Amino acid sequence: MKGIVEFRRGGPDDPLVREIMEEKGLKEVPFYRKDRPNAQGFDLHACMQRWMAYVADRDGPVNPKRPEGQDAERISPLIKAKGLELGAGDIGFAALTPSMINLGSAFDLPTIISVIVPEDYAKVLDGALAVEREAFETYVECARVSTLLAAHIRGLGFQAIADHNGTGDIQAIPALYASGMGELGKHGSLVHPTFGAGFRPGFVTTDAPLEIGSANIFGVQKTCENCRLCEQNCPPGAIRSSQDFVVTDGVKRWPVHIPTCFEASRFREEYCHICVDVCPYQHKRSDDPERAKIYKSFMKKRKLAGYRTPSWFIEDEKSVLGSDR
Ligand code: SF4
Ligand code: SF4
Repeated sequence: MKGIVEFRRGGPDDPLVREIMEEKGLKEVPFYRKDRPNAQGFDLHACMQRWMAYVADRDGPVNPKRPEGQDAERISPLIKAKGLELGAGDIGFAALTPSMINLGSAFDLPTIISVIVPEDYAKVLDGALAVEREAFETYVECARVSTLLAAHIRGLGFQAIADHNGTGDIQAIPALYASGMGELGKHGSLVHPTFGAGFRPGFVTTDAPLEIGSANIFGVQKTCENCRLCEQNCPPGAIRSSQDFVVTDGVKRWPVHIPTCFEASRFREEYCHICVDVCPYQHKRSDDPERAKIYKSFMKKRKLAGYRTPSWFIEDEKSVLGSDR
């Protein structure tokens, strides 16, 4: 099955990033500079190397002695349990389609497993560097969990190939959506009932028989019609209004204006994650009182600075809001 999705490469070599660099007359992308003064020893390039180290093991030999009785009803819960044991926060299964595969990539396997690893919400609220560290470390975890899960499935006698940041063949949002991991929010990210959009994904394509899930609609887009928190908090104003949506393959989505987002997320030297942190689904459906407490305290302090977050906000966050969040 060949992929059909035009995709953004991401990282410092993203063509759109390069185009904006030329317009700005920049030789380096500020966020990816190796000598960023605010990085305080955190080397995101070293982190990228850690997820790249998993690429060699994404596929491997399949156990030729497949045990009898491996039907979907029996092995679906076993594979889910294995993923959770390895460190995933949730796992879902979907039929693999060309719209989940990037242009130029191909898989001869019928099913995709979506694996999500949550970020620590308390940690990401500790400032731009903390969230950058947490995001990149979580991507490494996604590479580890998807690689080990693929190896486990091959041990059961089925083909299985891991996909993550280091490989990049899978288009995350359609795969996550079809696997029942959540709904698309106005900030452009998928919202999971427990973790909001505070997670990172990994994938495994396989021919193991699995019970295919369905979309998990639990009211996010209805909330987005009236909620403007991400829109009003986005520093450069990259998130559009509730009426400004498109429908792709029957799914409503609000496209974030990427060049505007890059003003805060690539052309500064610090990470931006604000739209994810201010979304009420960080706690709304989680049944976790601690998450609710963290969210409410964060938003209360944020309100003091004004919901329309000025572009200098992230740098001065602690002095504006205090450090006892
Ligand atoms: S990452 Fe930052 S700049 Fe980009 S859409 Fe979210 S809040 Fe806006
Ligand atoms: S912050 Fe509000 S509008 Fe934005 S994705 Fe979350 S619920 Fe939707």
